[in-house]
Amino acid sequence: MPRYLKEEIIHWLQDDNQEKALFQKADAVRKETLGDEVHLRGLIEFSNICRNNCLYCGIRGGNALVKRYRLSEEELVQTAFNAANLGFKTIVMQSGEDLYYTADKLCRVIEKIKKFDVAVTLSIGERSYEEYKAFREAGADRYLMRIETTDKDLYHRLDPHMSWNHRHECLLMIRDLGYELGSGIMVGLPGQSIESVADDLLYLQSLPVDMAGIGPFIPHPQTPLAKEKGGTLKLALRTMAVMRLLMPDINIPATTAMESLHPQGRLMALQCGANVIMPNVTDTEYRKLYELYPNKICLNETAVQCRTCIGLKIKSIGRTIGTGYGGHIKHVEALKKENEE
Ligand code: SAH
Repeated sequence: MPRYLKEEIIHWLQDDNQEKALFQKADAVRKETLGDEVHLRGLIEFSNICRNNCLYCGIRGGNALVKRYRLSEEELVQTAFNAANLGFKTIVMQSGEDLYYTADKLCRVIEKIKKFDVAVTLSIGERSYEEYKAFREAGADRYLMRIETTDKDLYHRLDPHMSWNHRHECLLMIRDLGYELGSGIMVGLPGQSIESVADDLLYLQSLPVDMAGIGPFIPHPQTPLAKEKGGTLKLALRTMAVMRLLMPDINIPATTAMESLHPQGRLMALQCGANVIMPNVTDTEYRKLYELYPNKICLNETAVQCRTCIGLKIKSIGRTIGTGYGGHIKHVEALKKENEE
């Protein structure tokens, strides 16, 4: 893996004069390593019920103004089935930390969804080793959990009653159970320094992650951080581009939060390092209730509309839509070998 010094990373993140060169370099590395395919993931937001109280998050347990919902097992499986029919080869199941969904229930759901010939990614936060193991055995392929920040003091201020070390240990467990490991951070958190963002990138490289997302923090009016400034698209894109230089072969999404700040945010991201997009396939009635941050895009769209729109956008910049499961290339290569033997 390419080695960069923290000083170099900070320089890339800060220097306006270098931005164009950084974006071009990240785009070239993406093209050379992964080609022009953009992999799509169908994102199902299946519950906004959360036992945690993260200061930045719109669906934090303490936000009494949120109307709570959770999909039943049947609805969840049906949503995944519809997404698979639309051509999605990866289903991402994301939720708040909702313990109603026990390992037994989730394993049942995963087993059913795996029958639709898709890769399954879980993004449901911190669970026990036994639970992670059970999900994996039920067929879950990938796990997505952002470390959010590696500044432990900041983490503990923003995520009361949670432990940074524990989240880190969860990521190691997930990795060691053979999942494709996804993580990531937010940029522009109140009190977060550029040095700390550089540390975050080096941390993600050290895990190492198979996929990682960078999102700008967007203040939610019903949270204690309502009056904070929030992250800029510029910093999010730069951070993402540097991440591409640090890890040429990982999967990097053009994140939804980027598009919430700019109508072309995701296309811009695809042109400076990203190779993945996660269109929302959640039923329209639930989308607005899964409001992590305000101005979330595509609130009134259906899964079909999102799939069509994103397909056109991807084509408009001369890229193609991935036809495989779109895992990390090391897994794709391993599968190919297995099939040849
Ligand atoms: N409960 C799961 C899913 C969390 S929601 C878990 O713990 O992993 C997915 C991501 O949304 C979070 O990891 C966080 O990085 C991001 N997010 C939450 N609130 C946000 C905000 N106000 N602005 C931008 N991103 C936010």
